[in-house]
Amino acid sequence: MPITAGICLHISDEDIEEVFSEFPYELDAFYAIVDEGSNVQSIIDGTESTGYFEGSFWDNVRTYAENSSQLEVFNDGIMDNKYSSVNVNMNGERRIIYTSPIASKTWLLVMGIKAESIENKGSVLRRENDRYQVIMLVILAGMLGTIAVAAVLVGLRERKNKKELENKADTDLLTGISNKIATERQIKEYIAANPGSQAVMIVMDIDNFKKINDTMGHAFGDEVIKSVGHQLKSMFRITDVVGRLGGDEFIVLLKNIRDSKVIDKECRLLEECFHNFEVGEYVKYSVTASIGVAIFPRDADSFEKLYKAADSALYSAKRKGKNQLAFYNESKS
Ligand code: GH3
Ligand code: MG
Repeated sequence: MPITAGICLHISDEDIEEVFSEFPYELDAFYAIVDEGSNVQSIIDGTESTGYFEGSFWDNVRTYAENSSQLEVFNDGIMDNKYSSVNVNMNGERRIIYTSPIASKTWLLVMGIKAESIENKGSVLRRENDRYQVIMLVILAGMLGTIAVAAVLVGLRERKNKKELENKADTDLLTGISNKIATERQIKEYIAANPGSQAVMIVMDIDNFKKINDTMGHAFGDEVIKSVGHQLKSMFRITDVVGRLGGDEFIVLLKNIRDSKVIDKECRLLEECFHNFEVGEYVKYSVTASIGVAIFPRDADSFEKLYKAADSALYSAKRKGKNQLAFYNESKS
């Protein structure tokens, strides 16, 4: 196996010999390594017919390519240092020239095979090529898949963390319901998006809470706030807004109430619940609350005005002796 010229590539002579010796086409093929100057650095062949590669290797192949109307493919593929193959007619024999960039990428490994040989022997090389391409594709797909999955997981984790942070920032730590800022935002968003839909704002304040703190202790006071928050949350739809404004004051927005009878029913249920709301596992403490109600958009058409109206109704309920509910339109008269 003569190797005609010095090889200064990353591929060792042994490697090349091994590749060549395993080549299935024997006398029907040649391998060559061609440098950027189109010089044949190494050639191994089984036929004397490859001896005509004198001078510029590519000039020779170009001539053959030209003769078999493959010049365009030759120029686009082979001369661009890409993986390529062209059919050329060499001295009356149809050959397939495969090229593959190697090492410095300006050098090419070239395989010339008699087309007839490939057709007869069942496209082993093509299948090998396909196999390597499939392997490369699988590796590439695997890498891309891993990157994609990793990106999705990172995205999900980030979204989850963001959501958790948002939830944390929106939550009142003592009760677990929305805090003042989140509640205001949710109500404002609802009003902006549903200007024509009827909604009910309820503001509630625990009666004599200072006394509860003073007599039962601050920790028990906390327990009362917590229980009231849970009770309010459990009484309304999940889509309604339920929040703590701070201290012993709570706010609720019942969204999209079409039937005015529902307003009355819900408000009476709430009033009844807090006529005698018991807190404490062993010692039961009866808590009462005062409630003010304003209707959107009948009583007011913005968050600020609606809250003012509901708060004024609450004040009216307190003034009338606490432990009761007052509507804004009634409290005015
Ligand atoms: P009113 O019947 O008129 O509502 O009187 P009140 O005694 O309930 O007085 P008010 O609502 O004005 O006062 C609420 C008190 O709640 C004031 C404050 O000391 C107490 N407080 C505020 N935040 C907390 C809290 O997180 N935990 C506890 N235990 N007490 C709180
Ligand atoms: Mg109070």
